[in-house]
Amino acid sequence: MGGTKIAGALVDARGELLVRAQRPTPAREDGATVMDAVAGVLETLAASDDWARVRAVGIGSAGPVDASRGTVSPVNVPGWRGYPLVAEVARRVAGRPVTLVGDGVAMTAAEHWQGAARGRANALCMVVSTGVGGGLVLGGRLHTGPTGNAGHIGHISVDLDGDTCPCGARGCVERIASGPNIARRALDAGWRPGPDGDRSAAAVAAAARGGDAVALASFERAAQALAAGIAATATLVEIEVAVIGGGVAGAGEILFAPLRARLRDYATLSFAAGVEVLPARLGADAGLVGAAAAAAQDIGLWQVPEAP
Ligand SMILES: [Zn+2]
Repeated sequence: MGGTKIAGALVDARGELLVRAQRPTPAREDGATVMDAVAGVLETLAASDDWARVRAVGIGSAGPVDASRGTVSPVNVPGWRGYPLVAEVARRVAGRPVTLVGDGVAMTAAEHWQGAARGRANALCMVVSTGVGGGLVLGGRLHTGPTGNAGHIGHISVDLDGDTCPCGARGCVERIASGPNIARRALDAGWRPGPDGDRSAAAVAAAARGGDAVALASFERAAQALAAGIAATATLVEIEVAVIGGGVAGAGEILFAPLRARLRDYATLSFAAGVEVLPARLGADAGLVGAAAAAAQDIGLWQVPEAP
């Protein structure tokens, strides 16, 4: 469940996606209209022959979520504040158990299960997209926190007097490094989209690849914010690796090269300086695979494997 799209899938025990469904998120509409879109995704999945074999339902939602109450309040979906998503989904899936985690925690579960954080005992995984989310693996285990939000790095402030973030704080990592903010900053500094009118972060990345100085600077600023957040995390809890996925990570070295360089500026203490930065392996499917992994763990189908 995200600010841009609602994606669903039937996922098997190997992490294969058997059936997919997707709808755009009517993010500016009222709560019931947003829920109708979720119900549409569920109806598509339930029409599959494989639906009868479904044991559990996992939800990875844009945060904040409250897993202890089964509610979600996605920052980019104002119609949902304390919205009882678990109860609303549960009554549409015929009594199957429903597990809720934040989208960053879901992505982390997926990357730890079969992606770039596999076998790592201490990792920060991040989704850099419309928003910025994250999750933590600590001591070899997914660390969700009491309400399922631990590792929500997008709303750590890295610019004390910076721009106001939709969350209410200032200078959050997300306010600087999310896709829309990369595009906004480039436009404000004079970058202009090409003939196709595409003013997304991907278009800014394409311009940066072509040597556009304003586009490059916008990505470098995003990389700086991410580096400061990763360095803070490494210093607090001693992560070995930071895994970065989401649409903005698709910019590749346009993002990763300045990120690694800036990390050297901020992760200065000996125990934090060695943190590796890796691209996520599961791409756009990480949220789906991770939500399934979280649900499967909840009903005891399997455990996320420890280091091999
Ligand atoms: Zn914020």
